[in-house]
Amino acid sequence: MNTEKKISVPMSSPEISAEDRKAVEEVLNTTSLSMGPKIEQFEQAVCKRSGSRHAIGVSSGTTGLHLCVRAAGIVQGDLVITTPFSFISSTNVILFEKALPVFVDIDPVSGNINAVQVEQAIHDLKQGGKSAAKWLPRKGGENHKAVKAVLSVDVFGQPADYDAINKICKENDLTLIEDSCEALGATYKGKQAGTFGKYGVFAFYPNKQITTGEGGVIVTDDEKDAAFMQALRNQGRAPGDAWLQHTYLGYNYRLDELSAALGYSQIQRLDHMLDSRAQVAAWYEDYLQEFPQIEIPHILPSTTRMSWFVYVIRVKDTLDRDSFAHRLVENGINVRPYFLPIHLQPYIAEQFGYQPGDFPVTEDLGKRGLALPFSSVMTEDQVLQVCEGIRRSL
Ligand SMILES: *Cc1c(COP(=O)(O)O)cnc(C)c1O
Repeated sequence: MNTEKKISVPMSSPEISAEDRKAVEEVLNTTSLSMGPKIEQFEQAVCKRSGSRHAIGVSSGTTGLHLCVRAAGIVQGDLVITTPFSFISSTNVILFEKALPVFVDIDPVSGNINAVQVEQAIHDLKQGGKSAAKWLPRKGGENHKAVKAVLSVDVFGQPADYDAINKICKENDLTLIEDSCEALGATYKGKQAGTFGKYGVFAFYPNKQITTGEGGVIVTDDEKDAAFMQALRNQGRAPGDAWLQHTYLGYNYRLDELSAALGYSQIQRLDHMLDSRAQVAAWYEDYLQEFPQIEIPHILPSTTRMSWFVYVIRVKDTLDRDSFAHRLVENGINVRPYFLPIHLQPYIAEQFGYQPGDFPVTEDLGKRGLALPFSSVMTEDQVLQVCEGIRRSL
């Protein structure tokens, strides 16, 4: 038996093929390195995959979400219902426009925003006074306006409860923005994630299901808003504007041609890569059975296809996550706590006066969640290596 110290399994690895390399190299042999034919090709491929009418390639998932906030007309003081259990950018994009995020706690099974509480929050915020105050931050929420939108997140590749969320948004005339940055290819009751809101966003950072290095794509069926977002990503140039004419306050949020070519090449293999990720998740599920201190991810019946983004276990209350994580690292196993609650991030807690205990389910999952190494190129041996490290660290 090989007793040498094994190379530790990386947290994540992109899957780059010979075709991917060739696609990027071909762009280098042209004169269009910023916007050109590749971004359109990639956008069309995303439209085809999601079934959306329009796709807008952008420089990251974060910049895509920011453009959705702008297109939704969210401005200073508007309230946006969202989740504190997410990657930071889903809240930051609301703050970029000086709007006010209203956090709602999550479902303990899926980790997605709790639709029952979303409905309650909207109801109470309409009432105003004491009922509304329970949903507002302790400070920093003065002079707020009405609820304008819901920004939901498909956490870890599992869609949120869209039957309920869509119904609430329709009844209350709210715009739904779907942060599907972790869920490309997932389906909810057979329908593609990213297509439930007025806008959906996918992201392509190297740990995502497919990568463009940095990049993202917004999808929407709204033609007018698509044109507006295309203008905003390109320094506010409206259709027909000359190069130095800028109709709107815009940004440089463009996706470059090298990234788009990589994305186009990668998305051809999306199903294959999602299947590989599902296989790795299945190995983990098998080999983690023997550890009663560890809970494996829960997949809801409404999730007709999981798009595995990360593999996050939850340790039971009897096990201290942080010392366990420390022992894992000492045993050569890479792990990462997932997520640190957004309301307790230093600048958010300071601006809004949030305290531990404000969102108990989010904080509980935040204390017990641990992402294990995960990617589409992981082998069964590597899964076993991680599980052996877990055995030694328990
Ligand atoms: C990855 C991710 C984003 C976008 O991240 P970028 O690094 O800006 O591409 C947004 N929201 C969530 C929930 C994410 O996981």
